[in-house]
Amino acid sequence: MNYLECYQRAGKIASEVRENTKKKRHVGRSLYEICESVEQEIRTLGGSPAFPVNVSLNDIAAHYTAEPNDMSIVKDGDVLKIDIGVHIDGFVADTALTVCYDQKYDSLVQAAERALDEAIRITRANTRATDIGRVIELSISQKGFKPIQNLSGHSLEQFTIHAGKSIPNIRTLGSSISLAANHAYAIEPFLTTKDGLGIVYEGKTCNIFSVISRKPLKEKAGNDLLQKIWTRYKTLPFAARWLTDEYEIDELIPLINTLRKKRNLHGYPILVEGNSKIVAQAEHTLIPSENGADVITL
Ligand code: MN
Ligand code: MN
Repeated sequence: MNYLECYQRAGKIASEVRENTKKKRHVGRSLYEICESVEQEIRTLGGSPAFPVNVSLNDIAAHYTAEPNDMSIVKDGDVLKIDIGVHIDGFVADTALTVCYDQKYDSLVQAAERALDEAIRITRANTRATDIGRVIELSISQKGFKPIQNLSGHSLEQFTIHAGKSIPNIRTLGSSISLAANHAYAIEPFLTTKDGLGIVYEGKTCNIFSVISRKPLKEKAGNDLLQKIWTRYKTLPFAARWLTDEYEIDELIPLINTLRKKRNLHGYPILVEGNSKIVAQAEHTLIPSENGADVITL
């Protein structure tokens, strides 16, 4: 399989999993159960999770995944962003949906999807990222909502989810990158209500990590864990939940903390809306060409 075929396969799996997830009613389910079942479905279809499924509730915009002993249950009226990554040989398809069971937020969720559709419609090779941001911002504000300014889409490279090039959710001033043909990009509008700040901050909770240095530690236990993580996930993000097959939680969490302190691991704290307002998200991964964009997660 060449890399474009890997992207296509990853995209097909991610899309199928997302659509199955959309059909389910999640109220009363635990975040743990949702994460585990989505990730299991990815594996059953022949892919690997590219990152722990993000299940971010209400004013949490992103980067929450279930802890090994997570007791959180989805309630009526919750707005839940489910962000799914699938990789084939490190080539990642990244897609997200927002589910909610309170009609009050239907228009917010639809505005995220509409902004994404409109952004995709103008995207092709050489489209400037700022023009995509302008379309997203306009689409969201026309519906009376506010884009999250400091969250953006991104380029993807093998085993790298945020590969350095941003696709903003607002018009940006100054120079802007242009999208290259045959490269993969995720576009992901995030928005909140008018009374939201439109900016997210890092919260205290942090349960997604990735390896940033393989420099050995003095302690054997820490080294063994680092080696295990590297073998399994390389530079892709992981969660403690994924290591409980070989580690007890009581031993695992302190080792992860040590690896973070030694800067072997990077942590991704949850991202929370600045005025604690509800956030919705939609996301697709696409590959631009001269004639348009091939949305691999459609
Ligand atoms: Mn995503
Ligand atoms: Mn993404």
